[in-house]
Amino acid sequence: MNLHEYQAKQFFKKYNIDVPEGFLANNLNEVKQIMEDHFLNDRVVLKAQIHSGGRGKAGGVLLADNCDEAIDKAKELFGKKLVTKQTGPSGKIVKKIYIEKQSNIDREIYLSELIDTNTGKHTFVVCKDGGTSIEELAETNPEAIIKLAIDPDLGFNVDNTLSVSKKMELDENNTKQFVSIMQRMHEMFIKEDCTLIEVNPLALCDDKLIALDGKVILDSDALFRHQENISLQDKDEEDPLELQASENGMNYVSLDGNIACICNGAGLGMSTMDTIYHYGGKPANFMDTGGTITIEKAYKAFEIVTRASNVEAVVINIFGGIARTDLIAEGVCKAIEDLDYKKPVVARIEGNKAEIAHETLKNCKVKITLAENCSDAVIKVLDLLNKGENQ
Ligand code: GDP
Ligand code: MN
Repeated sequence: MNLHEYQAKQFFKKYNIDVPEGFLANNLNEVKQIMEDHFLNDRVVLKAQIHSGGRGKAGGVLLADNCDEAIDKAKELFGKKLVTKQTGPSGKIVKKIYIEKQSNIDREIYLSELIDTNTGKHTFVVCKDGGTSIEELAETNPEAIIKLAIDPDLGFNVDNTLSVSKKMELDENNTKQFVSIMQRMHEMFIKEDCTLIEVNPLALCDDKLIALDGKVILDSDALFRHQENISLQDKDEEDPLELQASENGMNYVSLDGNIACICNGAGLGMSTMDTIYHYGGKPANFMDTGGTITIEKAYKAFEIVTRASNVEAVVINIFGGIARTDLIAEGVCKAIEDLDYKKPVVARIEGNKAEIAHETLKNCKVKITLAENCSDAVIKVLDLLNKGENQ
């Protein structure tokens, strides 16, 4: 679960990582109020709160010298569509602005902690030159980016951290501060069940290191341990189809091809998508219906995957172990009939009660093409797409 910068900074405060004084505004009146109450004689920075980095380059981080200027800049920001590398071309609309006292930046450093999926270890990633050009730097000068893995048996190691910190070219005092920020970041990472904490820039301002930006991702699968964090989800920022799927106990991922996939189990989903790529197609999304599936769930699954505008065909690949494939077939048929869905649908259904499922699919009022196996399903759907008809 992604957090906004202002939420990330609340966590930083809780773990004693310094952040600038800041307040969240949902509208112009709140901007005015915040300026009058807290920043009457201050220069401020107005920061669009969207779930994306690269806001600075997209015009989502604006400086203001006084109250009037802050209000003008806020007028400019509210409702503005920000297109960044991470939002894709459709961009994101600014609905919230975080207002902070401006900091005088001497240097910008990059610091993050993540789980390195290659090693499975908690890993710090640091670079002495942080800021808005870190992605370019990663491409042109990858050696400048240093990784430090944490040994899962030994935990956070001050000596190792110190040797990495020395490469940041900070004075002795700031080097110590850097080590202690890493230590607190790691504590937060573990205690809050994060999958990413990124501070870019960690800025040196008046001889102090301050987290000027913050990106935090909480592990959604660990939220049951953090009831207090569930309300931090901003549903406005989530993909509405992914949200709908999760509300129905299913996992849905949007992709940019044209073939929707409905599968039971992530493994089967992955292999179905691999097969689609193998034969030269591209998946539009995939829906993992999970283990227990009812008629209603199957109905919803079909409805959700076909709602995405890029979908031109559907592949259903189900293997029923405990799951009853007859129920899945019934739900899917009902959805296809109700939607009067005319684009190609190919179904490969095997396992528990598959004979009944096949009968149901054959008797569907709208044509569904049956397939023998995964490859057969993919070849058939690509063929139907090529022909441009549902036959
Ligand atoms: P991002 O572009 O989404 O990563 O947003 P950031 O919060 O990192 O802001 C982008 C850039 O704006 C930073 O790298 C800074 O250079 C600049 N910036 C942010 N806050 C301040 C501030 O308080 N004072 C000054 N002078 N610059 C700031
Ligand atoms: Mn940043």
